[in-house]
Amino acid sequence: MQVLSFTGGPFEENGYLVVCPATGAAVVVDPGAQALEIVRALERRDATVEAILLTHAHIDHVEGVPRIREVAPDAPIFLHEADRPLYEGVPQQAAAFGLGVPALPPPDHSWSHGDTFRFGECAFEVRHAPGHAPGHVILVAEDEGVALVGDVIFQGSIGRTDLPGGDLRELMRSIREQVLTLPDDISLLPGHGPGTTVGRERRGNPFLIPHYGGELA
Ligand SMILES: [Zn+2]
Ligand SMILES: [Zn+2]
Repeated sequence: MQVLSFTGGPFEENGYLVVCPATGAAVVVDPGAQALEIVRALERRDATVEAILLTHAHIDHVEGVPRIREVAPDAPIFLHEADRPLYEGVPQQAAAFGLGVPALPPPDHSWSHGDTFRFGECAFEVRHAPGHAPGHVILVAEDEGVALVGDVIFQGSIGRTDLPGGDLRELMRSIREQVLTLPDDISLLPGHGPGTTVGRERRGNPFLIPHYGGELA
């Protein structure tokens, strides 16, 4: 599994292009303001987008969906049902941040916790991890040593919970039960900022360590 990261826009959001090298099957995860760069990378590699996978429906993670759909009109969009109201409220999110946003096509499939999403010879396990957003999921490929964690956890930080539908207690439970249950050497690729690992955050994330006032051991 090849995971390529693209960063763009005022939120410096990370969108990902994930390619199964054996077959050329690709998925785009959280296309945001950098979607055009993802499209160019797709064209360079001659990869086929089989789906658009959304960790959650904040505007910076979904605003590039129409641009991906221009080159992959049949690629189904996956989003957890609990984030559907946020997705439908993207015009209001845009207005709140003073941004314009194109009309978004409706999601085609709803994630369920425990789903396995397969493309080519690759697969993600879907884990519901609410708290930053009610329908947030993380996409885990444990055998590949990687997890796309959206805005659940960052290098040295955690997702904000002051936006509509946010819940700090729920976020901490998601981190404890869905992220810290993974092996230490798993790479965590977040929605903002650099990648990290489970072990690094388990040992050093100040939001998680009681010594620093965090909640988790
Ligand atoms: Zn977010
Ligand atoms: Zn974000």
